[in-house]
Amino acid sequence: MRIQRKFRQELTTRLLAWYRELAADLPWRRESNPYSVLVSEFMLQQTRVAAVVAYYDRWMERFPDLSALAKASEEEVLRSWEGLGYYARARNLHRIARLLVAEHGGRLPSRVEDLERLPGVGRYTAGAIASLAFGKRAPLVDGNVRRLFHRLFALPEETPTTRLWEIAKLLLPSSRHCAAHNSALMEIGRTVCMPRKADCPRCPVSDLCRSRGGRASSTRKGSPTRCEESAALIVRDGRIWLEPSQNGRYRGFWRLPMFESGRMSNLGEVCRLSYSITRYRVDLVVFRADWREKESGEGRWVSREDLPALPLPTPHRRALDRIARCADLPSALPSPGAGPGEAVAFSPIGK
Ligand code: SF4
Repeated sequence: MRIQRKFRQELTTRLLAWYRELAADLPWRRESNPYSVLVSEFMLQQTRVAAVVAYYDRWMERFPDLSALAKASEEEVLRSWEGLGYYARARNLHRIARLLVAEHGGRLPSRVEDLERLPGVGRYTAGAIASLAFGKRAPLVDGNVRRLFHRLFALPEETPTTRLWEIAKLLLPSSRHCAAHNSALMEIGRTVCMPRKADCPRCPVSDLCRSRGGRASSTRKGSPTRCEESAALIVRDGRIWLEPSQNGRYRGFWRLPMFESGRMSNLGEVCRLSYSITRYRVDLVVFRADWREKESGEGRWVSREDLPALPLPTPHRRALDRIARCADLPSALPSPGAGPGEAVAFSPIGK
């Protein structure tokens, strides 16, 4: 595809004018130093802007720079990220901070190829940091830009991703304007040329668009797949038994012991709640359980006062909060070694 120079100039002029006037006032834009761009880009991966804002402010207060982040323990880092999901992002951010402080004088590199060597930094994130934090002429394509390009140029569905990156590169203005240009593309895709509704009358590039008014995706998401998880609430002397999660998305977190559904049917259910993750709707059911068979297992007894400092998967924290609101844990639940029939042949899953 050839894109004429006049078209590129027109497009950039409109993007920059729109961005100057209507860009959202987001906290990471106010500071706009490399660390704040790094943190915000990691948080924004697969997460809505509105959900990120509160986390971002708390994070920057707790870890104001790479050096503060590098000094923190993984437990502190995960606790601060708790609830935002996709915890590999927090672990990678922590690894980046330690790596840069130990080997690069605590400074983020500015070149795309150096950024891409950092853990968890792919082509999009490298382009975002290079252009937004360092003003480099680096292209970027995220889901919003992809949709915008598809509509703007009336591209066929099967257009390869490499083509979209070529277009992003072709459209780049001089380095002075790259940060605003890239930010405007993403923001127009997110707030104007939305997946189900292309708000063409509000669009600053509508008279350049080849599919103006049409092609809003009508794809409807199918209903989520339902599944169930079972967890055990084991209390002794007013403390709760938690186990470390060794792998999977919750690696580094503490959580209630997990068991195969059906193994706990002879026990009392103390709490049930639902949560969504990707295309699943999960029912988390917490049973009270006896302890004896797990005393040698890996884990620790935790008092209620200790809970706020520990990283817990959000559904487990919600379950514990709910249980704590309904009952006084130490007295309302059975002491270990309760009567026959309450002990379970534990078979932990998904650690
Ligand atoms: S004119 Fe409409 S379809 Fe075209 S880019 Fe703007 S919002 Fe999207």
